[in-house]
Amino acid sequence: MELKGKLAIVTGAGRGIGRAIALELGRAGARVLVNYRGNAEAAAQTVAEIGDAFAVQADVSTLAGVETVMAAAEAAGGAELLVNNAGITRDGLLLRMSDEDWEEVIDTNLGSTFRMCRAAALGMMTRRSGAIVNLTSVSAIMGNAGQANYAAAKAGVIAMTRSLAREVGRRNIRVNAVAPGFIDTDMTRVLPTELIEGVTKMTALRRLGRPEEVAPLVRFLLGGGASYITGQTFVVDGGLS
Ligand code: NAP
Repeated sequence: MELKGKLAIVTGAGRGIGRAIALELGRAGARVLVNYRGNAEAAAQTVAEIGDAFAVQADVSTLAGVETVMAAAEAAGGAELLVNNAGITRDGLLLRMSDEDWEEVIDTNLGSTFRMCRAAALGMMTRRSGAIVNLTSVSAIMGNAGQANYAAAKAGVIAMTRSLAREVGRRNIRVNAVAPGFIDTDMTRVLPTELIEGVTKMTALRRLGRPEEVAPLVRFLLGGGASYITGQTFVVDGGLS
């Protein structure tokens, strides 16, 4: 129960990895703000499973959405913990990638992380306590054909994590990133079978990961056991990279 009494914001927490993180933080005693964009039913289910949690509908790729989440967090006493998990893919080869596909992925995966960190840091600085975990991807480290937009956004998240850690460390705020490999969620279920088979062969553990295999590391990085860890990116990929 090391996170007991702390409010944790998890963006995109209705489904997939975000949901597993929200449940894990709830088990560690945190109160959880479960943000979602469209799937209210999934978010309500996550909230019900945690108990001490509440859902906030907001599109965090927009400033208005970020402000909605932060207002709800402030009304609940202010968030000491933040997990920037909301993310999307719009895969396509370079010559066929539209400006919309580029911008949507950058705004959702990188822009939301920047705006949420900026908004949450103010309260954390005042309290002189805070921990942030940003979800990135092995695509940012290895590169991935068809993911120029996604890999660029996630590489931006890694660089931003390092920079913010240097900026806010003196206020006792830590910022780290977690880079999953291929995890079995709605995001990867749409991928062609041959691609998944290829990835599985390249993965030392010869299988995709489960969301529950990413969440414990996020919990650890938010907790006291990680009190001297900041600015780092940790890979959870079954040995893919
Ligand atoms: P997912 O199953 O597709 O779920 C995405 C979640 O993000 C959903 O809860 C969705 O909300 C929410 N979301 C998307 N855009 C949003 C927005 N603009 N505002 C608020 N919420 C938004 O994805 P996932 O696989 O769990 O991925 C979670 C994170 O891990 C992402 O950042 C992803 O890039 C990263 N990641 C995933 C993998 C993988 O293999 N799955 C690998 C590396 C990194 P709704 O339910 O309301 O639609």
